Amino acid sequence: MAWPTLHKQAQSGGDPNLASYDEACASFSWDNARAELDGLPGGGLNIAFEAVDRHVRRGHGDRLALRWLGKDGTVRDFSYRDLMLLSNRFANALRDLGVAKGERVFLLAGRIPELYVAALGTWKAGCVLSPLFSAFGPEPVRMRMALGDARVLVTTEALYRKKVLPWRDQMPQLRHVLLADAEGDALPVRTLSLDHALRQAGNDFAIVPTAAGDMALLHFTSGTTGRPKGAVHVHEAVVAHHVTGRLALDIRPDDRVWCTADPGWVTGTSYGIIAPLTNGATLLVDEQEFDAEHWYRVLQDQCVTVWYTAPTAIRLMMKLGADAVWKYDLRHLRFMASVGEPLNPEAVMWSQEAFGRPFHDNWWQTETGGIMIANFAAMDIRPGSMGRPVPGIEAAIVSRGAGDVTPLDTPMAVGELALRPGWPSMFRGYLNEDERYQKCFAGGWYLTGDLAMRDADGYFWFVGRADDMIKSAGHLIGPFEVESALMEHPAVAEAAVIGKPDAIMGEAVKAFVALKPGFSADEPLRKDILGHARKRLGAAVAPREIDFRANLPKTRSGKIMRRLLKARELGLPEGDLSTLESDEK
Ligand code: ATP
Ligand code: MG
Repeated sequence: MAWPTLHKQAQSGGDPNLASYDEACASFSWDNARAELDGLPGGGLNIAFEAVDRHVRRGHGDRLALRWLGKDGTVRDFSYRDLMLLSNRFANALRDLGVAKGERVFLLAGRIPELYVAALGTWKAGCVLSPLFSAFGPEPVRMRMALGDARVLVTTEALYRKKVLPWRDQMPQLRHVLLADAEGDALPVRTLSLDHALRQAGNDFAIVPTAAGDMALLHFTSGTTGRPKGAVHVHEAVVAHHVTGRLALDIRPDDRVWCTADPGWVTGTSYGIIAPLTNGATLLVDEQEFDAEHWYRVLQDQCVTVWYTAPTAIRLMMKLGADAVWKYDLRHLRFMASVGEPLNPEAVMWSQEAFGRPFHDNWWQTETGGIMIANFAAMDIRPGSMGRPVPGIEAAIVSRGAGDVTPLDTPMAVGELALRPGWPSMFRGYLNEDERYQKCFAGGWYLTGDLAMRDADGYFWFVGRADDMIKSAGHLIGPFEVESALMEHPAVAEAAVIGKPDAIMGEAVKAFVALKPGFSADEPLRKDILGHARKRLGAAVAPREIDFRANLPKTRSGKIMRRLLKARELGLPEGDLSTLESDEK
């Protein structure tokens, strides 16, 4: 079968880091990947050392490591040396407070510079970092900090008063709260000034010798399918962050990298802190929330070269049209990538039109810690495909029976996406949920819970999360296929489909659609969209019903919560809503 293909483009700045996929796969080994990093001088491996200190040791201390764009227009620059010294100070501050190796440090803040300093300093002190979304409510914050056994919290005064104070007395193990923006008499009781602590602390710090297998990160999953899980990651994850940043995002030392994800979500840590720094590039951090015009201006004015974002943002940009993009000079932009949700073919084609280059979709999970399947710069893109496995990653489509797992080798067979365990950023457990963790493995595979297909050339195609699949009149229908067809209609900005119990068909496909500006949610439009879907998909797969919504419910990491649409449709309990961001109600 011939796939619609966007052929790889000649790049400015020479060949991509991964110039030939087949050669890169043939020559790859994780041992070689480890050798790209230095390791701690006295032995061991530490994320912060690889991200920052080693560049200073190699004479690159003056290079720009972090450029921070504040909401109020302030710009702050930090060289690699600045970050090294500041993170040393934070690590010293933790030590002065008596915080021991392995203890958990939580971050609850917007994208402020202190957050990045604290993250790096936490790793240097041998502590475990757990970043939370600052928009979480008090209960989601409490729940995660209780589960994670938080000892230290870095936050701001407003967030502390609103989200922590209400339950602080119930959590005596939380010993230290450091506020990034309060000092002296203004400090609430039982809090400390981060600024003061940093000023008091020394510039030199001998990094606590962490081993490759020591816990470094606790990341909570997005909660798209249910209660969020706490995924445990270790220091050697940095090997995968580094290599996937280099190969899948094509990061080079002279790049300006903008990962728009918040560090409260795994993408914002793996690729919004670690990978750009280990690769010696400049990390761009924008404090503001999404606004398309603002983003285009940042891309232009900051000469962003590598841009990593998510389908929700891309769909919002599509809503405004390509004309809005053309007003800006984006000649520096070299590589654009997307993660988090399926990237509809329509979005890939649109980006080609609007930016003159396509978004490269890639796939991974909180559990995998880093990119696993990707569209590489040197590869032709098949719009709608997640790409091919990262060198060093063995991926398969399998069928899970009672106790056994069978690889499905026929091209385009639908099955569960499985990965062969053993890559460095593989999660090492769900915190306090060992049974759930063990259930992810069978027959020598890690089972991802996502359904996908592989074509004859080894490209993977996302079908849907196992929980979201629809069984209708004997067909297994993946929501992605239906949503992508709906997205082709000129009026549709976003779509989500669910299976609704049906006496005859088992389940009937129901779609929820948000419209682009200028379209009105009326009967003729509904019929037109239904007609378009039927023509594209056939009557067996097309939705029977469409509801218009102003917004679709999403997680804070931007994922459509189909389970919530379904629960509401069926009048069932709504389940854990701690990560819910925008609401349709
Ligand atoms: P939870 O596990 O709590 O339900 P979640 O799975 O959404 O939440 P994350 O780990 O943030 O939490 O997201 C990983 C999931 O996101 C993947 O398993 C997959 O379903 C989806 N995903 C990520 N990237 C892609 C992609 N490129 N294409 C399709 N789906 C993707
Ligand atoms: Mg998940």
